[in-house]
Amino acid sequence: MCAINPQTAFEDERVLTPALEKKHILVVGGGPAGMEAARVAALRGHIVTLCERSQRLGGTVFFSSLAYAENARLVEYLERQVRQLPIELKLGQLVDKELVKQLSPDEVVIATGSKRDAPAIPGAEGKNVFSGDELRKLLTGEDPAIAKKKLSITQRAMMTAGSVISVTDSAAKMRELSKLWMPLGKRVVIVGGGLVGVELAEFLVERGRIVTVLEEGEKFGVELSIVRRWRVLHTLKEHQVNLIAGVTVAAINDGSVTYSVAGEAAVVSTDSVILAVGATANHDLASQLSDLSIPLTQIGDCGGVSYIEGAMHQGHQVGREI
Ligand SMILES: Cc1cc2nc3c(=O)[nH]c(=O)nc-3n(C[C@H](O)[C@H](O)[C@H](O)COP(=O)(O)OP(=O)(O)OC[C@H]3O[C@@H](n4cnc5c(N)ncnc54)[C@H](O)[C@@H]3O)c2cc1C
Repeated sequence: MCAINPQTAFEDERVLTPALEKKHILVVGGGPAGMEAARVAALRGHIVTLCERSQRLGGTVFFSSLAYAENARLVEYLERQVRQLPIELKLGQLVDKELVKQLSPDEVVIATGSKRDAPAIPGAEGKNVFSGDELRKLLTGEDPAIAKKKLSITQRAMMTAGSVISVTDSAAKMRELSKLWMPLGKRVVIVGGGLVGVELAEFLVERGRIVTVLEEGEKFGVELSIVRRWRVLHTLKEHQVNLIAGVTVAAINDGSVTYSVAGEAAVVSTDSVILAVGATANHDLASQLSDLSIPLTQIGDCGGVSYIEGAMHQGHQVGREI
């Protein structure tokens, strides 16, 4: 099997055939799921419109490639395919019910990614606390309101300078810049030791941060494939990252996080906190569109968090079957 190429080992079953009936397909979301669906549907002869609300393709994978550089090649490949094929690409285009009515497609493929709600931890709204979404929007310059809320004037000036010299357009440039500066303190606590938490921990220790990861369950990085998981955990141990399992976080304070393990209370001092928990399916657009009589399919994380592999496989499947 291959996480990226759904046809690997299924060459005879997952064959692309020309569409019997040429349809207008609206694909919402320019992450891996949306780009793969658009690519395959266009290859089969459908008329495809791909809308992405931000100014760049890649979705969460653009951000994930800051933490794990290998992911950038997937975005490059898919973006090249989308731009080469006869796909109408609309960047900076938020899709809502009005737009769908206006475009009047034959089918809609929703690939809008997951929701990341802040967990119900006292102090989670603090200035020193970043949810996964906030960190992404800060580092990729997607939402100036968050920069205003969370950053000092000097930090905002650094981010603006980064975007003026186009650093924030490229994951590779941002990886380099982040070695010099990031809007995070020296000590960082990451709440959540799943795939996202451990990858962020690896990224941060490589940038000189002292990192503690607090995980509710007993294991770290369980969603990672086995070799990658071994490598990340090895790097984290080598860098003396404090990995604490079986944790219940009690509160986030200004300068510390209080938690308990097996009923024993404890505290860890910190300058910044990252919340790497709480990604869930996002049915918002599907619910908005449900009373239009247009067939809808949800793929990728918006239908249930399934990571890059789920996004690519579901994108390919819908493109193949539509
Ligand atoms: C730090 C980090 C590291 C990660 N590392 C890995 C990893 O190593 N391996 C792995 O498998 N997964 C990893 N992931 C998870 C992976 O990035 C996601 O699972 C994957 O991107 C989901 O793809 P998607 O296409 O479903 O959604 P997304 O990539 O989230 O894309 C959704 C897109 O839809 C757009 N959108 C949303 N609403 C609208 C709308 N109404 N109109 C128009 N556009 C809209 C968004 O702007 C976004 O671009 C990581 C995630 C993070 C945060």
